[in-house]
Amino acid sequence: MKGLMMDRPLMISSIIEHAALYHGDVEIVSRTADHKLHRYTYREAHGRAQQLANALTDWGVKPGDRVATLAWNDFRHYEIYFGAAGIGAVVHTVNPRLFPDQLVYIMNHAGDRVLFIDPMFAPLVASIRDQLTSIEQIYVLSGTLDEVEDPDALPGLIPYEELISGHSPECDWPVFDENTACGLCYTSGTTGNPKGVLYSHRSTLLHTLVVGQKDVIGLSSRDTLLPVVPMFHANAWGLVYLATMAGAKQVMPGKNLDGESLYRLFEDEGVTLTAGVPTVWMLLLGWMKENGKKGFSTLKEALIGGAAAPRAMIEAFENVHGVSVCHAWGMTEMSPVGTTGNLKRGMDDLPVEKQHDFKSTQGHTFWGVDLKIAGDDGKELPRDGEASGNLYVRGPYIASGYFGDEDSSDAFDADGWFRTGDVATLDPGGWMKITDRSKDVIKSGGEWISSIQLENAAMGHPGVKEAAVIGIHHPKWDERPLLVIVPDGEAPEKASVLEYLSEKVAKWWLPDDIAFVEEIPHTATGKIQKIRLREQFSDYSFPNT
Ligand code: ADP
Repeated sequence: MKGLMMDRPLMISSIIEHAALYHGDVEIVSRTADHKLHRYTYREAHGRAQQLANALTDWGVKPGDRVATLAWNDFRHYEIYFGAAGIGAVVHTVNPRLFPDQLVYIMNHAGDRVLFIDPMFAPLVASIRDQLTSIEQIYVLSGTLDEVEDPDALPGLIPYEELISGHSPECDWPVFDENTACGLCYTSGTTGNPKGVLYSHRSTLLHTLVVGQKDVIGLSSRDTLLPVVPMFHANAWGLVYLATMAGAKQVMPGKNLDGESLYRLFEDEGVTLTAGVPTVWMLLLGWMKENGKKGFSTLKEALIGGAAAPRAMIEAFENVHGVSVCHAWGMTEMSPVGTTGNLKRGMDDLPVEKQHDFKSTQGHTFWGVDLKIAGDDGKELPRDGEASGNLYVRGPYIASGYFGDEDSSDAFDADGWFRTGDVATLDPGGWMKITDRSKDVIKSGGEWISSIQLENAAMGHPGVKEAAVIGIHHPKWDERPLLVIVPDGEAPEKASVLEYLSEKVAKWWLPDDIAFVEEIPHTATGKIQKIRLREQFSDYSFPNT
């Protein structure tokens, strides 16, 4: 027997429609190339998103067409999220930090027809324009061409405001199958060629509803969100949709993600919740330390994800600045939030040290994402907090294939679980600890050493600004860890780092050597780029081998 409930499809447009109707006066504040601080309301945003929808339809954008963006977080980018998806087009957010040949690969692979760019990316796009085979029209996210350095280098470039002006701010959002694609994000290629993850209206709304739970992220209309995580990094972790659904105020930082700019925005706009990768927080915390700033007026919670949050960072936020940390894990393929670091019942009473033990893990499960770990033979391993194995996930907003490679069979096991590529432990309470990406674990004498745990331990040493660990070939043990350090000022004594580490990790995990560098390479989404680091040290061998 079928239930007798309305079959209303889950549509992205319904979120902004709701925000405009019931939170119409709530602000979206953003920094753009042509506005120091632009302010408007959900009501106005909705009107402009509809103008854009009408303009795109007039131009000839059809359902299923890919509309690409190369832009920082701001109000116009926000309007594209809703205006393009609302008419059944697919918003393809491209990461401008990628190398030009990766940009070409991704946009051609996606078959993007229209491209929206921030003025600052015009020279970059001009340099690859003749290789972008599917793009028919480029718009620049500004009022005029004045912000573009050399507009003649991109013939036919039209300002966004010119595109939407004169179009009606009402469009009667179409209602269609909720399984229709709405967004496309390529994983940044830390594991080979970038792969396209194609979200649907349904998966996006389900993800938004789930992460809205108080234990996961949870946002209220009384909150002010500043997503430092870019809208091109797994849809800003879904936070833009969540804030809109909740009717929260949003603050979009544009391109200025340095410590001082963020600090000022947090303070001036009354931000209560923010989200970003550890590298961003390193800059903010560093700037605050240098400038003698302690605490914030309104900021209550920082969401950290995308890479492991070092314990020292969690301690600095919570103990020094009074900001609660939610350390979460996820993947582009998962829409992307997969775990939450918010404490569970009874844990508020634990000593702070113990709370930080939990917060230093990758968080715990919640309804909507199933996790399991399995050995290389595919056999499931116990959730006992000890056994470590390949991590698999399953759920209604997890990718079932990649764009243009729908079978993608090697990414899934025989029962349809998605292979994350991470190696983890899982405990009976659902707390998950990533020990490594499967290709980054260091295999020493048949045992595994976790590069992530070593890195995080090293980051606590006062002389260490950033740390990365890679496996180096060893004639006896197969591989042994090399610790690569960016020093915080003068390089610390190797012996002092090793002594510090020996209190935190097993003796046989201690790195065989330490190398000091000025910079550690990062991927376009702020993760340590192990592939490049390994290349950098490909000629290296340990002193006593
Ligand atoms: P990519 O960088 O490959 O494009 P994503 O941005 O989707 O892909 O990153 C997903 C990966 O990032 C995860 O599989 C995991 O290895 C890593 N990751 C994300 N969050 C965390 C975290 N909190 N701790 C450790 N690793 C994390």
